[in-house]
Amino acid sequence: MDVTRFLSASGIRAYLMPVETFPGHINNIYLILDGDLITLFDVGSGTEMSIEGLERRIAEVRERFREDVSLETVQHVIISHAHIDHFGWVGRFARPGGAEVYVHELDARVLNNFEERIVLASKDLRVFMERAGVKPAARAALEELYRFSKDFFKSVEIKHAVRDRDRIINGYRVHHTPGHCPGQICLEVEDLLFTADHVLARITPHQSPASITPFCGLELYLQSLEKIRRVEGMTVALPGHETPIEDISGRIEDIIAHHRKRLDQVLDICGAPQSLVGVSKRLFGEQMSYNRILALEEAGAHVEYLFQLGELRIANLDDVEREPNPVIQYEARRGAVV
Ligand SMILES: [Zn+2]
Ligand SMILES: [Zn+2]
Repeated sequence: MDVTRFLSASGIRAYLMPVETFPGHINNIYLILDGDLITLFDVGSGTEMSIEGLERRIAEVRERFREDVSLETVQHVIISHAHIDHFGWVGRFARPGGAEVYVHELDARVLNNFEERIVLASKDLRVFMERAGVKPAARAALEELYRFSKDFFKSVEIKHAVRDRDRIINGYRVHHTPGHCPGQICLEVEDLLFTADHVLARITPHQSPASITPFCGLELYLQSLEKIRRVEGMTVALPGHETPIEDISGRIEDIIAHHRKRLDQVLDICGAPQSLVGVSKRLFGEQMSYNRILALEEAGAHVEYLFQLGELRIANLDDVEREPNPVIQYEARRGAVV
């Protein structure tokens, strides 16, 4: 895919730059040109291929669209959320004399104190996997995978921690949309809506339970979808992966319907007691490597939500009472009020 240009109602230019941030993994990084203001929305992972890819895309904007820009002239950098494929290269801009960097306050901590975040999240993941029923050897291997980014990213000082409804740079509106990530934001630039990983065209954004990361979880995510659906006057959604979305409201409805269906599936699966590993296998089949973590988290987000709503109960409560971290068996509460 080539660089694509989008024009806002008053002529602000937004360039969608697809960049391969990890092998086979494409992120959309946006360059927003507004009068003299030059803003990057996300920066890629910071791997060699990601850096080279972004540099090539900027050169393409310069040559094909005759824009006088380079990475050196970027004044503002907005990070959509604290997932490594979106923020990994932020250190390039956050240094003294660099650009102004903006991150939601719930994700600023991750970038400011990355080491702490990784250690803590790994520990919560360990407990989660134990309770889910992942065998010890597999657990250690998965944890190692999860920690890969630890040596990869060095914490940076973030100057601008933003909040919901803030207006930044030239009046661009921040919408806080927690769920996929605690500090996930969407950005409204006139009639262009940058949705990052909150709303994607084809895949449904990954969910993980609040028990691993506070401010994640399905309840908040569904609320955040409704919130974005109420933003009026948007002509196109520009997401962090895949293609732009013209029917934003229709796409949001599809995503909500997808989760409702999956919640029903989980209730069906839990007709007899199931561990989270069992639920995950029934939903997604046998998964390997990092996809196994993703599948467990996705299943976990749905089970957690149903449990909080009182539609699932713990079938082996005696074990939970006696042992430190037993495998939890969930069962649909028959006749539950829906
Ligand atoms: Zn993400
Ligand atoms: Zn992403």
